[in-house]
Amino acid sequence: MLFASRSAAESALHSRWRWQHFSIAELCCKCDGRYCDRAYWHDSGFLDALTSVRADIGGPLIVTSGHRCPKWNRRVGGAVASKHLQIAVDVAVASHSRSALLRSAQRRGFSGIGLAAHFIHLDRRADPALWIYNGSEHLWRV
Ligand SMILES: [Zn+2]
Repeated sequence: MLFASRSAAESALHSRWRWQHFSIAELCCKCDGRYCDRAYWHDSGFLDALTSVRADIGGPLIVTSGHRCPKWNRRVGGAVASKHLQIAVDVAVASHSRSALLRSAQRRGFSGIGLAAHFIHLDRRADPALWIYNGSEHLWRV
């Protein structure tokens, strides 16, 4: 469900926000007010799955990109039909075990998984897809 602004999302969802390790602030559009008012796409099942991945790997997940408004998606070179236009996340990969992260994401129902050198893209699309960004093939064992 799309909320036009972070503040609208926060007031609507505040009383039933049960994902303590994630915030609307980090999941809303990062265009910083240039093209939208920090729009946010809410999907409870998505956040449940993300919470499960966090529990599996036993550490924080830093979301570097969440929902994107159409103009911001274009600006950052996102795919035309990117799931970021609804909800997808890019999670920073730092000290994480890549294989544990990948296994957990698959087990928790993420069906769109993109593997990059410094992040993993996660979404829940109807037709499963797994891809590796150019130059990071050697980092992931798929
Ligand atoms: Zn935006």
